[in-house]
Amino acid sequence: MSNKIPVASPALIGNEKKYVLDCIDSSWISSNGKYIDLFERAFAEYLGIKHAISCCNGTVALHAALLGLGVKPGDEVIVPSLTYVATANAVTYCGAKPVFVDSEKETWNLDPSKIKEKISEKTRGIIAVHLYGHPANMGAIKQIAVKHNLFILEDAAEAHGALYEGVKVGTIGDASAFSFYGNKILSTGEGGMICTEDDNLASIIRQIKGQGQDPKRRFWFPIVGYNYRMTNIEAALGLAQLEKIEWHTSRRREVAMWYKEMLAELSEVQFSPEMNWAKSAYWMSSVILDNRFNRDEVMNQMQLQDVETRPFFYPMHTMPIYQAIAGENDFPIAEYLGRQGINLPSSALLTKDQVAYVVRTLKQSLIKNQR
Ligand SMILES: *Cc1c(COP(=O)(O)O)cnc(C)c1O
Repeated sequence: MSNKIPVASPALIGNEKKYVLDCIDSSWISSNGKYIDLFERAFAEYLGIKHAISCCNGTVALHAALLGLGVKPGDEVIVPSLTYVATANAVTYCGAKPVFVDSEKETWNLDPSKIKEKISEKTRGIIAVHLYGHPANMGAIKQIAVKHNLFILEDAAEAHGALYEGVKVGTIGDASAFSFYGNKILSTGEGGMICTEDDNLASIIRQIKGQGQDPKRRFWFPIVGYNYRMTNIEAALGLAQLEKIEWHTSRRREVAMWYKEMLAELSEVQFSPEMNWAKSAYWMSSVILDNRFNRDEVMNQMQLQDVETRPFFYPMHTMPIYQAIAGENDFPIAEYLGRQGINLPSSALLTKDQVAYVVRTLKQSLIKNQR
């Protein structure tokens, strides 16, 4: 066992083992079984939304939602450049084109003031990502969507429990996608959920994720669907995790507040934002180093002291797969954040001593790596 402090680790502190063993003892291990239904209902109830549709990961949650929302080849969908690759790829899977927009300095999310210039006749919708757990500026995004008749899909993969003006993210757009990957706020190993208030959209998405089968006629497939189903074992993990969601979210907040307090004196770094209209889920506690510092060197130094960190995502417009379709010089904030951002250890299992140790190693590394 190493003493390394990891960026993330799932916290299986509730009924996970009991429910998973129940699946095995009863031999209900596939995508049939009671935990699927229980997890979906509990998740819908937690969000306060009508439909929660389980699927096998967050990426396909985005894909199925986009298909359900009617995205077709040749369409365009607005996406923040600074996000995980899955957000953009889900658009590409539909044969549509992700159109990238720069980030806001204040929230690290999609900048609403830069959306309008990217809208064309082909634009169908906007994917609002709640990056690292902080809600996107949904009010401003919604105004634009309404005015231009665009859908909003929330990528809430990193933001279980985050609030925008007191409202849970994942309930604000036309649909939302969550991830339960091993490092996310709730984890089923691999897993995802699509949420919506819209009955029609929900039934289309259920059909899409279940091979396209007609809900009223077995082995009849009116559309080409996908096998995007979650297993009963994953749902068993999810139900157990969800029973403890208040613990998971409050522990993450506690960790973030320790960092915030201990980093307050350090003018060289900007800690994760939390706007006065937002409650962040603090999926990741993060810092942006100012331009005097070489981010990668700072991370290397921390690694040598057994502190694991992650660089921020590379903006999508810099990826070889997306460079050709993105405008140039359009993304100064995304580039700055992507170059200078570090995700610190953020697991719900961290102790105050561990957070203090991370902050000490960060401070020491900053002293060594000022350019
Ligand atoms: C994790 C993540 C996804 C994809 O979820 P998977 O379950 O890993 O497929 C999508 N978008 C964002 C922003 C994510 O962080």
